[in-house]
Amino acid sequence: MPEEMNPYQIALRQLDHVAGILKLDDGIHAILQKPKRELTVNFPVQIEGSGTQMFTGYRVQHNTSRGPAKGGLRFHPETNLDEVRALAMWMTWKCAIVNIPFGGAKGGVVCDPKSLTLAELEDLTRRYTTEISIIIGPSSDIPAPDVGTNGQIMAWLMDTYSMHAGHTVPAVVTGKPVSIGGSEGRIDATGLGVVLVTEEAFKKRNWAMDGATIAIQGFGNVGGAAARIFHKRGAKVIAVSDVSGGITDSRGLDIPALVLHVKQTGSVVDFPSTEPVSNEEILALECDVLVPAALQGQITGANAGQVRARMVVEGANGPTTPDADAILGSRGILLIPDVLANAGGVTVSYFEWVQDIQSFFWSESQVNSRLARILRRAFAEVWAASETHRVDLRTAAYLVGVARVAEATLTRGIYP
Ligand code: NAD
Repeated sequence: MPEEMNPYQIALRQLDHVAGILKLDDGIHAILQKPKRELTVNFPVQIEGSGTQMFTGYRVQHNTSRGPAKGGLRFHPETNLDEVRALAMWMTWKCAIVNIPFGGAKGGVVCDPKSLTLAELEDLTRRYTTEISIIIGPSSDIPAPDVGTNGQIMAWLMDTYSMHAGHTVPAVVTGKPVSIGGSEGRIDATGLGVVLVTEEAFKKRNWAMDGATIAIQGFGNVGGAAARIFHKRGAKVIAVSDVSGGITDSRGLDIPALVLHVKQTGSVVDFPSTEPVSNEEILALECDVLVPAALQGQITGANAGQVRARMVVEGANGPTTPDADAILGSRGILLIPDVLANAGGVTVSYFEWVQDIQSFFWSESQVNSRLARILRRAFAEVWAASETHRVDLRTAAYLVGVARVAEATLTRGIYP
């Protein structure tokens, strides 16, 4: 398969593969190949020093057969419609794999949030929200944070939507600060989910978490939380990286001290008593678990042969290309796919939405124990599918997810 496939082509290829195994009806397969709804918006924002500047944003709803569309919002200079389509499709499967009543969506704005002032970022978020407000809503499509967005941006989105509605609508977005209807446990949920599924895989292999060596690419919402939780649970995080570079220490990094260093300097780079490591090198370090938690397309046909981890747990969406999948599989490296490994975020987003609708809030321990129950069940179902069909865990996860979405689509029937 050519490496230059874009994420949407990869997502389609993955769907076609499982459609064959499931002997999916041709009509249902055709429905699932296309996003249900795509909105492209072009809008102006006043930028200091350069006046009015036009920005492009997207919101794609892939499928809503199982419930309202759900998916994050990405602010990144290289985001584009095909990337957003792929991410929306992956959200559909992910929600079905963990069996929460949502379809899949994703949004993005082509921008570099780091180059904007806080006021410009707020203006951009509020105008983008207004532009997509014709298709989002608490019972239609619920955004959440992704790369380049955070709780503050979700707060602006919620406020903008509420101003237009004339009343506060907390359930229009998840990943909000707790003070305005966010859920306890949401910030760490994706990272915690990464650790929970790793623990399940360790049980299957009879490995111990205590002293296990972990390398993590990306130190944001997902990678940063995963590092903290792995460290807390006795694992040795031996390397981490961010967009500026990485650091390694085979004795295990002092993660709480590193978190402080990142707060002060903005990067993991130059953390005392560590060796520098590049983002390419971190993928090839010898360790028990490699967690790619930055962007897609990191482990490719060109570098998968150098991966020396015994297990890869995908914190990011789409970090491993199909070529790399095949190479890792042939080398006996177990891979826990994104649609399962990083589903903790959307699961707690679902909890947040439920709490907002009921105006009745749960404690962090209630959130975390419900999250663990859902992820352990999803892991067991995916593992069982991989044994039944004798396929890798990615294919197995897709089999579980696509079958559920196909069943819902078929049961609802085609209107009119
Ligand atoms: P983030 O913006 O908080 O963090 C991204 C991290 O990756 C940062 O440390 C950044 O410096 C680093 N990075 C960016 N470009 C890089 C590059 N070229 N090389 C190496 N590192 C780079 O984003 P996030 O929310 O942690 O998301 C990371 C991945 O996880 C994305 O693929 C996202 O879609 C996925 N994801 C996020 C969530 C969530 O709840 N936030 C849920 C599921 C999946």
